[in-house]
Amino acid sequence: MSNYQCEACGKYKAADVSKIGVGDKVNFGVVTKSSSLTIRLSIKEGEVTEVDGDILTIKVKRGGTYKQRRGSVTPEGAPGALTYALFGRCDCGEEAKS
Ligand SMILES: [Zn+2]
Repeated sequence: MSNYQCEACGKYKAADVSKIGVGDKVNFGVVTKSSSLTIRLSIKEGEVTEVDGDILTIKVKRGGTYKQRRGSVTPEGAPGALTYALFGRCDCGEEAKS
């Protein structure tokens, strides 16, 4: 996780999602509507089983298969949205090395 931290500014670099491929573990959020007034966000964790351009097919351990856009998933071990909210996102222009 620390290799996502920028040495220059101490903030966290954006994860490089362009390298995500079949067999990679990823996290993503799914919004479910539990009633007409309530929506719920749950974080799913799964394994990429198919890549079709920017659409990833992700098999979740228990709970089936999801199709997600590449830009809406984060690689396992990468900082989540909460980390960026707390510590800030690196703006030096460097990409995280994996
Ligand atoms: Zn930085």
